[in-house]
Amino acid sequence: MKTLYIVIPCYNEEEVIDETTKRIKIKINQLIESGKITNDSRILYVDDGSKDKTWEKISTIHDHDEKFIGVKLTRNRGHQNALLAGLMTAKQYADIIISMDADLQDDINAIDAFIDAYYSGSDIVYGVRKKREKDSFFKRFTAEMFYKFMLMMGVDLVYNHADYRLMSKRALDDLEQFGEVNLFLRGLVPLVGYKSSIVYYERNERFAGESKYPLKKMLAFAFEGITSFSIKPIRLILLVSVIMFTISMIIIAYSVYRYLIGATVSGWAFLNISIWLVAGIQTLLLGIVGEYVGKIYNETKHRPRFLIETILKR
Ligand code: UDP
Ligand code: MG
Repeated sequence: MKTLYIVIPCYNEEEVIDETTKRIKIKINQLIESGKITNDSRILYVDDGSKDKTWEKISTIHDHDEKFIGVKLTRNRGHQNALLAGLMTAKQYADIIISMDADLQDDINAIDAFIDAYYSGSDIVYGVRKKREKDSFFKRFTAEMFYKFMLMMGVDLVYNHADYRLMSKRALDDLEQFGEVNLFLRGLVPLVGYKSSIVYYERNERFAGESKYPLKKMLAFAFEGITSFSIKPIRLILLVSVIMFTISMIIIAYSVYRYLIGATVSGWAFLNISIWLVAGIQTLLLGIVGEYVGKIYNETKHRPRFLIETILKR
């Protein structure tokens, strides 16, 4: 039997945390009774520098029930960092770690399927939303655009998967080796590898409180995802520069031709060639510099070059 930790980042969630606690308590007790997880399984709340009574509530919950434990960050560091803090804490004590949101938008009944998938050999189990009927049209549309755009930009994501997932301890040990500061977990987890599987679930509405991801934060998040994972935008500079350079060459040839047949006013060819020559060379050089910047960017991430799953040795 394995020990399960459920990691829940919370930012100003005083309105939802009691209800969440109530429902998760039932779930975890069920799992323990059915013999799927050990009795030292825990729920770990991470307080991401909340400005309301979230931490006080977490402390009270912990006082009443040792199954609920908490970590408090010194200040608000954002969902991804709070989640990582929780995962890295949990993996010290657990074999299986599940991350989910505090608002219970993600159906907690999917946890059973998560754990079954783990016991069938998956180190990573992705929760994927079946439909987005419950979300507003706007949220649905922007979210779909987000995934499509990310794929276009070369970021490998599991479609419609947010941060509701199970990871084994060893997968998290590997994740820890990714040294990047700009964190986009959804993009990183697939890079860890191992056998993974998908569990589909219904996504509900937030039952209280407001989304901590308004449009502005969502856009910032998408931009973060792209710029943390892909040098495609830099490649675009190179592409543009090659096109620019080609156009320059054509216009220069044309100017020379006009000059040779004497169809120009004095100085026209010189000026025209100067402008296009300088512009063409500059953009080309910028594109080349961009390639190196892209390389430096990849090097500074210090991502592991490989991760070993098993060694056969006597
Ligand atoms: N969250 C956090 N720090 C933040 C913003 C959000 O820890 O700076 C938590 C929040 O408490 C919730 C989860 O991240 O548990 C997801 O946030 P939310 O439900 O508001 O996002 P949405 O579901 O609307 O995308
Ligand atoms: Mg939510």
